[in-house]
This record gives sequence, C-alpha cells and structure tokens, in this order.
Amino acid sequence: MKQLKEKIITEGKVISDTVLKIDSFLNHQLDPFFLKEIGDEFARRFRDQGVTKILTVEASGIAVGLMTGIALNVPVLFAKKKQATTLDQHYFSSTIYSFTKKESVEIFVSKAYLGPEDKVLIIDDFLARGEALRGMLDIVLQANAALVGVGIVVEKAFQHGGEKLRAEGIRIESLARIASLKDGKVEFLD
Ligand code: 5GP
Repeated sequence: MKQLKEKIITEGKVISDTVLKIDSFLNHQLDPFFLKEIGDEFARRFRDQGVTKILTVEASGIAVGLMTGIALNVPVLFAKKKQATTLDQHYFSSTIYSFTKKESVEIFVSKAYLGPEDKVLIIDDFLARGEALRGMLDIVLQANAALVGVGIVVEKAFQHGGEKLRAEGIRIESLARIASLKDGKVEFLD
C-alpha cells in the first residue's frame, strides 16, 4: 500500500535495528481517516471469503480491527491481556511472548464470542516473530473456528514470523513489508 509506505517513511521513527515506532497514526495517536483506508484495503482483499468475525489483540490491533469490521460488516473481537476473574472457565487462553515488552503475557477470549460457526480474519498492527499471531491462531483452533487469513499493517520480514506461518499454509496479507531497519533507515521488501 503506497500511501502507508510513504507515511512510514515520513512519520515512522526507527528506534533500533528491530523496532519501528508509528505513534502518529497507528500505535498512540490514531488517524481515523487513514485507518479507514487500511480497513477498506483489508476488506477488499478478504471480501469474498465469508468472514464472520475479526479477531485482534488489545491494544494496538483494536483500531485497525474495528475499521476492517466496519468495512466487512462483521463483529470485532479483541483478545484481552487481563483475565476477568469471574469468568475464568469461560475463556480460551494462550500465552504469547511480547517482542517489544520482552515478557510473556496471557491472552483471553470469551467462549461466548467465538465458536465452530465462525470464519475468522485475524488483524494486527505489526508482525515480527509471529508470537502474537500464534497465540491468536491457537485460540481460533481451541474454538474449532475456521481461519480465513491474517491482515497485518506492517510486517518486519527480517524477523521471519510471516515466512514461517506462510510456510504452514496460512494466508497473510501485509500492507507494508520491511526488509531492514538498519542504520535508522526503513527499507521495504517490495
Ligand atoms: P510478534 O509477536 O510477531 O513477534 O510481534 C508482534 C506484536 O508485537 C504486535 O502485536 C505489536 O504490537 C508488537 N510489535 C512487534 N514489533 C513492533 C515494532 O517494531 N513496533 C511496534 N510499535 N510494535 C511492535
């Protein structure tokens, strides 16, 4: 997505060789008009797949997940990172290692909102090593739901999460794929 690449170049901040900050429109301040474009693009790519539900994870996946849900006219479910104490046996859960926070977190999704009747499109802001994605895939599997595919705003291809998951047959659509963040410079794959 050309406009996304341009925004990454002009507004993104390379924090290190592995971390990119996009706080101006995606990860802190939200640009609703641009995020709408992103949601429309994911919807265009997955429109004919019979998606019944968007699954994402709090917090940064929610905005882009919501925009995709509006475009596809389906509910948006976000995995929570804190367990609701009253409902523990009613939740699917999985453990993910957070690349940016360097800690393991458990994610939870209520059994009330995901089941075998669902065709799920997973949406997230970044794909790095694929940990967050594996956690959400695990939950889709536990729910006996069907996975339609995955929509990612920014894939850091040099961290190989996407490569591994694609090799397992998962359809991943990334709107921008980064080959390198070396020397403070963003280089795209294609
Ligand atoms: P993974 O689980 O694929 O290793 O990392 C993906 C998750 O970590 C995303 O949900 C995202 O929130 C966070 N993340 C990974 N790399 C970056 C990055 O370079 N910048 C930002 N802002 N978040 C990242």
